Order: sequence, then structure tokens, then C-alpha cells
Amino acid sequence: MAATLRKSLKTIEDYKVTNPHYTDLLDILADILILREDYRKSMTSPIFSVDDKLIAGKMEGGLPLIDLAGQKYDLTRPKEYFYSLIAIAEKRLPAEARKFLDVIKDEQFDWETIIRTSFNPNPSEEEIPDKEVKASGEHDEQLDLIDLFIEESLRPELEVVAEQYGASVEKSGWMEGYCPICGKEPKIGEIRESEDGRRYLFCHQCGYKWHFRRIKCPFCGNEEQHSLAYFAVEGEERYRVDVCNKCRRYIKIVELPKSSEDVNMDVEDIATLHLDVLAYEEGYN
Ligand SMILES: [Zn+2]
Ligand SMILES: [Zn+2]
Repeated sequence: MAATLRKSLKTIEDYKVTNPHYTDLLDILADILILREDYRKSMTSPIFSVDDKLIAGKMEGGLPLIDLAGQKYDLTRPKEYFYSLIAIAEKRLPAEARKFLDVIKDEQFDWETIIRTSFNPNPSEEEIPDKEVKASGEHDEQLDLIDLFIEESLRPELEVVAEQYGASVEKSGWMEGYCPICGKEPKIGEIRESEDGRRYLFCHQCGYKWHFRRIKCPFCGNEEQHSLAYFAVEGEERYRVDVCNKCRRYIKIVELPKSSEDVNMDVEDIATLHLDVLAYEEGYN
């Protein structure tokens, strides 16, 4: 077992003690991380490839390296992976799994369409500021799990791209609020005290992390300080939620002290699901 996986599983065990409410989800995440590693080990020919010559131009034009919404790829293997992720939930949470198995078995459920539409290649045009906000309670954990599995299904393949091209992407000075590797919008990020409070956004779809201005909304580009704010929960000073009152979107942020090592953002995302609920209740989405 790779050292990073071992470390992540240890973090999960620690979080189960401090956040017992999330035990089931954290157990599921541990299973996912193990399956993800198996996938990575068994990868022979990666699905995605990047033409080195095009990288600079793409980055300059604000185009992610991989165009999932626009290009055709053979997604057979990620789809199989998706169904093996579903099997985890069936094993871990049989009662809950039954509910979303109905969703998945419904003939209207099309994994590939959902994958493609989950990408937002041109956020500025598709941004609808007053789009319907989910009522609280609607945001339940079953739905989260399907989202989680959908997102995870491409992670091993995209992670390879992120690892291979991350360094050149970093040099390009990418300024967008969506991921330079795959185009997905971030849900969580971090602020590092050790780097003068620089804010980084994290992409769950590919595992890439990129620097993004602190006083700027990743979703609508708003830079007006008076309409950007954040909130935190008492006793949980490690986390905050950055909100934009212009587009009513939010992003969760982990505040890392100077001495902190890298944290596993998959684990942090699950351990902060209550912040998502709070943000929804406050009318952010
Ligand atoms: Zn990404
Ligand atoms: Zn905004």
C-alpha cells in the first residue's frame, strides 16, 4: 500500500473519532481511496492525452487541458469504476443505497450524459445568478453520494493528467476559478498561512490544486470586497466558508497553519458537509 494511501486512511480513522457523525461516509471514502489506488495500478493505457504543443495556448485562452464536455472519449472503464463505487455503498449503507439504486436504475439515468453535463466549460455565460436555491433538507446524503461517485468515476484517469502536466500548468499562471486540468468548478480550497495567506482551490474531479486570488469569487469573478464575505462556525476555526453576495455561491476553505503538512481534501470535504448544509440554509449554492 502506498504511503500516501496509508496516511489518508489513518487520517480517516482519526476523523471518525473526532467527527463520529460522518463515520459511514468516511468509511465509504476509505473504500473509495483503496479502489482508486487499484484502478491506478491496473491502468495500462490512459484515456486522456494532452498535446504538449497546445498547453500554452489553452492556458492562455482559459481552456482546460481536457475538454470533457466537447470531446468524445471512451469512458467504458470509468463507467465500470462508477458501478464498483455503487457496490461500496450497497455494502456499507444497504438501506440508503436502495434509495439511490432506484435513481440509478431508472432508465432516465444516463451516467455519461451526467458526466458531460457536470462540466461547465464556459462558466461566465452559463452562470445564472438567481438560479433556484435548494431548500434545506433537500441536500441529503444520498444525493451527495451519487454526486461523489459520479465525480470519483473520472478521478483516477484525470489524476494522471494532473500529475503529468500540473507543473507546466502552474507555470502558465492560470487565473480562472475553474480547474485548468478538467474544467470542473471547485467546492473546497485552502488558505496557507505559510504562503502569505495564499488561497488555493481544489478540484475533486482530478485532484489538482491551483492558486486563486483571495479577494475574488471563483464563480463569477466578482472582486468587490463589500460583496465578498465569509462565515465560520464557532469552535471550528479551522474552516470557513467564502461566499459571494453577487452570485450567491460559496466555497469551503480549510485554513492551514504554517507548520501544516498537506491535507487530504477528499477527507476535508466530507468532514465539512455540515458547512454545505449551513451555506444552503443561508441561501448560497
Ligand atoms: Zn480538475
Ligand atoms: Zn460570485
